[in-house]
Amino acid sequence: MYNDLHCRAVAILKEMYGETASFREGQYEAIEATMNNRRTLIVQKTGWGKSLVYFICCKLLKEESAGVTIVVSPLLALMDNQREAAERIGLRCGVLNSTIDKDTKSLFLSSLEQGKLDLVFITPEGVFKEDFQRVLPNMHVGLFVIDEAHCISDWGHDFRLEYGRLYRVISALPGNVRLLGTTATANDRVVEDLKKQFGDSVFISRGSLLRDNLYIQILKMPDRASRYAWMVENIPKLEGSGIVYCLTARDCDYVADYLGKNGISAEAYYSGKRDAEESLGCFQRNEIKVLVATIKLGMGYDKGDVAFVIHYQMPQNIVSYYQQIGRAGRNIPRAYTFLMTGQEDEDIIDYFIRTAFPTEKELREVRSIVTENDGIKANGLSRYINARKARTDKALNFLEHDGYLYYENGYHSTPKTFVYEGDFYEKIRQLRYSEMRQMQELLTITSCYNRFIINSLDDNTGKNCGFCANCSGKKFPDRPEQRELEKAQRYLDSLQMTISPRKKWPAIEGFVLSNKSIRPCIDEGICLCKYGDPGYGMLVKQGKYPYPTRFSDELVGKSAEILEPILNEKHIGYVTDVPSLRSNLVKDFTERLAKRLGIQYVEVLKKSPADQQKTMENSSFQCKNALDSFSIPDDAIIPERLLLVDDIVDSKWTLTVCGYLLMENGCEEVFPYALADSSQRED
Ligand SMILES: [Zn+2]
Repeated sequence: MYNDLHCRAVAILKEMYGETASFREGQYEAIEATMNNRRTLIVQKTGWGKSLVYFICCKLLKEESAGVTIVVSPLLALMDNQREAAERIGLRCGVLNSTIDKDTKSLFLSSLEQGKLDLVFITPEGVFKEDFQRVLPNMHVGLFVIDEAHCISDWGHDFRLEYGRLYRVISALPGNVRLLGTTATANDRVVEDLKKQFGDSVFISRGSLLRDNLYIQILKMPDRASRYAWMVENIPKLEGSGIVYCLTARDCDYVADYLGKNGISAEAYYSGKRDAEESLGCFQRNEIKVLVATIKLGMGYDKGDVAFVIHYQMPQNIVSYYQQIGRAGRNIPRAYTFLMTGQEDEDIIDYFIRTAFPTEKELREVRSIVTENDGIKANGLSRYINARKARTDKALNFLEHDGYLYYENGYHSTPKTFVYEGDFYEKIRQLRYSEMRQMQELLTITSCYNRFIINSLDDNTGKNCGFCANCSGKKFPDRPEQRELEKAQRYLDSLQMTISPRKKWPAIEGFVLSNKSIRPCIDEGICLCKYGDPGYGMLVKQGKYPYPTRFSDELVGKSAEILEPILNEKHIGYVTDVPSLRSNLVKDFTERLAKRLGIQYVEVLKKSPADQQKTMENSSFQCKNALDSFSIPDDAIIPERLLLVDDIVDSKWTLTVCGYLLMENGCEEVFPYALADSSQRED
């Protein structure tokens, strides 16, 4: 019983993909439900063709002059394929994301208002921007699509607050606006929750999630060197290009660097990386073999010929894991995925789970600061609260989401009485831990991996994939060769990091130099390793904890080896330490280093009693504390060129301030050196 709607939908499909094209199971039913004004939820595996459903609906709506289609999607960096497909069937398509400039944006918004566009992609954050909210009521919206709809559920993933707020938009939609949600990863609990939000009469299209073209092998590898070595040895055996997923930005940089040094073209990709989009573009055009990415490359990313996905660390939960391996093999017959894992992964995940929500203290403090400083900007908070910016930003975001603050040219308090949702956060935290345990279980099973994964997503299939390592045997070695392993260890030992001194004074109450450039400024320096990392990072830790003892001769030797050529080049013949009242550790190390290098140790800086620098959480507090702590006695003899040594560097304020004092008092050049970096870069 093919009706008019069916004929028109098929005609559009053929226009897109040629005469032989036909719908996959469930696609037409989803289109029909959406067009007949039923709220529709599609839960289908990656590569099923969810976007085809809204493309065709959009085209049908255009033919009826029934309004614009808005697609809310988390990743809009590369929409070229989508856009091409849309334009092939004559849809006027626009993408509204943070990369377009102000003029383009206002032009875009006015053409939206005038109905000159048929299909608009927008990020969840974009939906709540003032300018979009202003034009929204004037727009004729025919269909509202929420891509990755599991995110609007509290039980969904990647707790993105803007997604949560979409619920308000949905409930405010007039009855004649069609609503479509799509996801590949909703378990029963999420589907139940979405049903409540979409309304009981929602039409649900749910198919098998099994991706039987994905090979899965799990590699238990305790240390970084093994993982590096394994990749260098095995990636060249894999055809085509692929993705390596890391949990942190720092790992992305190192892995990409090491692969590159071993003849495997690779680029890193993460939030905040300057040329991230260019790297992604190179990958998209298959100009590089590997993209090393954080979860920033996640939902919504669609490249049909991704041939392999390697997890450098264990992902947080099965949903993310399924999503990420699902990036592979969409339009190719088969793809290979590998999960590397060891104890440190669990520590990282535990950190992410523990810090996912702001504390009650953070929320209360931030709110009262906003109340007392009406119209304050996010950057202005640092002078009032001793907390990291990532933490205060998070608190602002939560407070705004829950209606305690609103933003209009700065933050303002609302009269709403504050209640801390501790029980709710705890419930989510416990859920995250149980998800982590599920992930750990995956590592131990001997039955089909693919089946375990989709069973965890409440697709209760009894079918095995027949292809994963447990079904068809291991196709790749479990361990790297010794020679590769040693090479990787040498590389990891050689990693040094630069210390970029601070450039600008922070805002400090009553400080005349607030917000001015720091002049004179010390050189960019060197840090031997990351605190606690295997190798030197562990040696540094052993020197300090549980109580300061002595830094090993190996650390002195390695530091001298690195510093010697630099000091020769810069004609530096003196070294001093950042003094401490608590222990002799750094002084002892610096004196031994001076001896080894054959340069003169001098005492220049003086330390006064103050709080420990590591308890200061943001620039304003760190800088002020350093300024209060250090001074140069009047009778100090100050060399012209100086090496300045400390053990741990975090905010870099101690080195910056000490260097500034030295240069203010007659030094011409100060080169900073630290043993270990303990800062956390949050991604
Ligand atoms: Zn299997």
